[in-house]
Amino acid sequence: MTGGKSGVIVVGCGMGGMAAAVAALERGAAVTVLERAPQEERGGQTRYTEAYLRMKSEDEVTDDFESHLAENASGYLDPSLVHLTSEPRENWPALVKALSLNDPEWIAAFAAAAGPTVKWLKGYGVRFDFLPTEFLTKSQPRLLPVGGGLALIEALGAAAAKKGAKFVYETAATDLIRDGGGHVIGVRAVGSGYRVREFTGKAVVLASGGFEGNAEMLTRYLGPRSIFLRPVCRGGYYNKGEGIRMALAIGAAPCGDFGSYHAEPIDPRAGMAEPAVLIFPYGILVNQEGNRFTDEAPGTVDAYYERVTRQIYNQTNGMAYVILDSRHMEIPNYRLGIRTDQPPIAAASIVELAAKLGIVPEILAQTVAGYNKACWPGAFKPLVLDGLATHGLTPRKSNWAHPLDKAPYHAYPIISSNVFTFGGLKVDAQARVLNQEGDPIAGLYAAGEIIGTFYRNYTGATSVLKGAVFGRIAGGDAAGLR
Ligand SMILES: Cc1cc2nc3c(=O)[nH]c(=O)nc-3n(C[C@H](O)[C@H](O)[C@H](O)COP(=O)(O)OP(=O)(O)OC[C@H]3O[C@@H](n4cnc5c(N)ncnc54)[C@H](O)[C@@H]3O)c2cc1C
Repeated sequence: MTGGKSGVIVVGCGMGGMAAAVAALERGAAVTVLERAPQEERGGQTRYTEAYLRMKSEDEVTDDFESHLAENASGYLDPSLVHLTSEPRENWPALVKALSLNDPEWIAAFAAAAGPTVKWLKGYGVRFDFLPTEFLTKSQPRLLPVGGGLALIEALGAAAAKKGAKFVYETAATDLIRDGGGHVIGVRAVGSGYRVREFTGKAVVLASGGFEGNAEMLTRYLGPRSIFLRPVCRGGYYNKGEGIRMALAIGAAPCGDFGSYHAEPIDPRAGMAEPAVLIFPYGILVNQEGNRFTDEAPGTVDAYYERVTRQIYNQTNGMAYVILDSRHMEIPNYRLGIRTDQPPIAAASIVELAAKLGIVPEILAQTVAGYNKACWPGAFKPLVLDGLATHGLTPRKSNWAHPLDKAPYHAYPIISSNVFTFGGLKVDAQARVLNQEGDPIAGLYAAGEIIGTFYRNYTGATSVLKGAVFGRIAGGDAAGLR
């Protein structure tokens, strides 16, 4: 089967793939969309996200958008190479063009296209609003599509079908097909029952996400502790990294931190999507030995939950418990920070709670007593950074440090989930995949999480936007190819 000579083949049905498909159709291309999942589960990670967008209005990204992306755009770079990026791009040596770094012009293109892309999505019936989030304290505004990522998939999926896209479900792309000149013209794919098929056209847009669902790649890149991670929702299990692997196999340049991922604290007992536990700044975190190991409240929860979750991941069995007293239930809307559908482990005393958690009771009692003694009087203001810090305690707690002494006591187990992996492909501002010489690989585009972007720390609420912006650019550009 083929998509025809004029066709664009899109791999994946999430935000990146759907935006690419619709944009290519708008430009008159025939579009074939391959999707590993059955139709009722299409949409990958996008299906399950509330899709916060780092925007201060429907037209503008937040003031820190470009600077935050630039801060997380690389590892330690050689200044003599970075210096060269201030020259026009055509003057850059190949070494710099292919560097594992988000190019300044890519970041600028991303920021500039965000507002117009939101407008474009509104044209397909998506509504946007500033709705309450799971963060009780936050540093940046977040715009949301009403109905979350699912609303985006449904709106663009319906538009694509109406414009004539061909959807092929339960079919996973495995390899790229190139013509004699090296131009990417299609993919080989495997359908259910091990039915191998080929889909060809004039270009391929890879939008198959990261490798959250591939245990071998997780261990290879993130290391053996990745057995303590799990995808934050069902959508992640479908993303097995073939898109990244098949592009690297033909010489694509990698970008993003292959050894890292976006961490979010979840309750391991819950089977629902994204059972986040973000209430920990109001209590203490202890490991299975009963000891504190991190500042639970270095700043607003939206800006610091990832760094705290990485500390949890580093503990024995990749797990910790948040210990709370009954005061957390007096915080207005505190339930927003507890998304798990599992009840707290509750007890009338710390010793009883320790026994329920399997922690040596004397050690937990000692930890809580030491923490309580380090809390000084002051006004507890849960919805702003109150600076109520511990004194003489290591590690210190920087905000909301009030004694835990009002029964009943509650605990939730917390592990780090893998929201998405950071390692992926390097693209230019037109979403064209670059090779190791920094040149676009003819006919090959990437959109969404497969574009490697982050190092060490995630610039929150930029992923859905990245899928929409570069999906739209990729689809439009691919459709214009002759
Ligand atoms: C619970 C949760 C909350 C999140 N919250 C936010 C947020 O608030 N804001 C934000 O910006 N980001 C958020 N993210 C991240 C964001 O949702 C994703 O980064 C983004 O949606 C990814 O879009 P995508 O199109 O690249 O990938 P996906 O949406 O994952 O889509 C990839 C698709 O490709 C398919 N596929 C995979 N491999 C193949 C193959 N070989 N062949 C064919 N099909 C294949 C998959 O089945 C899937 O449908 C969140 C993610 C999750 C899971």
